[in-house]
Amino acid sequence: MATRSNNGQKFPMSARFFQKLASGVPGVLFTYWLSADGQSHHYPFVSNQVQTLFGIDPSVLNENADAVFSVIHPDDASAVMASIQESALKLEPWCYCARLRLSHGEYEWFEAYSAPERQPDGSTVWYGQFHNIQHYKNLERSLRESESEFSFQAGFQKLIARLSTEFINLGFGTIDECIDELLRSIGEFFDVDRAYLYRFSDNYALMTNTHEWCRDGVQALIDSQQEVSIEDFYWWQEKIDGMVAGNRAVFIEDVDSLPHEAAPERALLQAQGVSSMFCMPIRVRGRVTGFFGVDSLRRREWRQDQADLLIIVSGLLSGALERHRLEEELLNQSIRDPLTGLHNRRYLMPRLNEMLSRSNRRGEGFALAMFDIDHFKRINDSVGHLGGDYILQRFAEILNQQTRSMDVVARFGGEEFIVVFNAVEVNDVRQLVLRILEAVYDETFVFDDQIVPVTVSAGVAGIEELAEIPASPDALIARADDRLYLAKQSGRGCLVDASGTLRI
Ligand code: GH3
Ligand code: MG
Ligand code: MG
Repeated sequence: MATRSNNGQKFPMSARFFQKLASGVPGVLFTYWLSADGQSHHYPFVSNQVQTLFGIDPSVLNENADAVFSVIHPDDASAVMASIQESALKLEPWCYCARLRLSHGEYEWFEAYSAPERQPDGSTVWYGQFHNIQHYKNLERSLRESESEFSFQAGFQKLIARLSTEFINLGFGTIDECIDELLRSIGEFFDVDRAYLYRFSDNYALMTNTHEWCRDGVQALIDSQQEVSIEDFYWWQEKIDGMVAGNRAVFIEDVDSLPHEAAPERALLQAQGVSSMFCMPIRVRGRVTGFFGVDSLRRREWRQDQADLLIIVSGLLSGALERHRLEEELLNQSIRDPLTGLHNRRYLMPRLNEMLSRSNRRGEGFALAMFDIDHFKRINDSVGHLGGDYILQRFAEILNQQTRSMDVVARFGGEEFIVVFNAVEVNDVRQLVLRILEAVYDETFVFDDQIVPVTVSAGVAGIEELAEIPASPDALIARADDRLYLAKQSGRGCLVDASGTLRI
């Protein structure tokens, strides 16, 4: 039996034979006819799989192909139409990939291949098949995802390696630059809009933004985020408790859907334009001292691997801050006198050298005063060594009170102290030193209920006096020491400078 098609052509094959042949093929076998004017089309043969797959009766398609075209995904339809037209025009195979709606309503990807044959009346018939390739699409997508995840991880590892090296090599004073660089790199890598570091006050009542990176065009918040009270932010306080007690990160995927009790936080974040954020506690010596965070101005979901990586970043920051604090403490210990807390000789000498060379270059004046407590041995004898220590501490406090932060105050030896008065004329220095002697004289020193009378002598030397000798810290100190000796000679409780002896 021959099957008649609409254009009257005979196919030397029975429909039953065709369906038998097609039943073993997982896809759809077909012949597709398109009239010369492109206005009508149908499937002279189409396997019963169209019924199983799309719920379309093949006999309907024998008359009109529209039902198949109606299951093409709207986004793919125009490309399919274009591929038919091109194939008809060039008589080249008609191939396409498109999503087709299955009978259960879901779209899946299909791939079609068919060869065209022009008919004598100008119409075209294609012989071919289409079959489901969703499985390959799924594989392809998961491959692409794992590839991008892999390259993300690899990129992150490189970044962390670079940042760790920077932190390991950092010298004193560059931790802030290293942190700024870390925030910038992490911000760009994670494609966020802000990255920042906050420090908590000891009682966790205040928080201060210490470092911030913002993408170009994003408003910086650091100036408005100094000593911010978190008294009214109950939800945030709970999150801080979680950070402190459980080392928990704070995720906000969508600021708009924060719970009711977080209304003040939501309002603040919305005012800052933040849609999503992620914060991780920073720990220094086991104690949470602040947090590291990133903001996104658009909504975003944090993938678990991204969250894990941000946790690594906060670990790196914690380590760097901890090391920096240890180094600062060590440095401090080595340049300070433990009894009085004043700087020691190790700190004083290089500062003096710096001041001397600055003075040589710019002609800035400065002067050095050497103080020595009078009859300190007697003080020790009367109130004991501890009493003597107490007097030394009180005197150090007076020196701190009576000097400016730009001056250098150091304990030079037992009961000898040096103050370097920065950027002052020698006449002014005389007044400053006199004021210190007065302050000591006016102070009532009491130890163990015993009043201890204390006076101090001082020798003062100005840098301009050293014009003819090679200017060195030792020469300046020696000149002040000589004058201190003169002050002792002339009865103590006074100062001696280039102009002579001055009493209070
Ligand atoms: P002068 O008025 O001539 O300066 O007499 P003085 O007794 O103060 O001078 P001297 O340099 O002979 O004695 C200083 C004493 O200071 C000797 C030492 O035992 C004591 N001393 C040095 N360092 C400390 C310290 O850290 N604590 C105490 N309590 N005493 C100290
Ligand atoms: Mg003394
Ligand atoms: Mg002495």
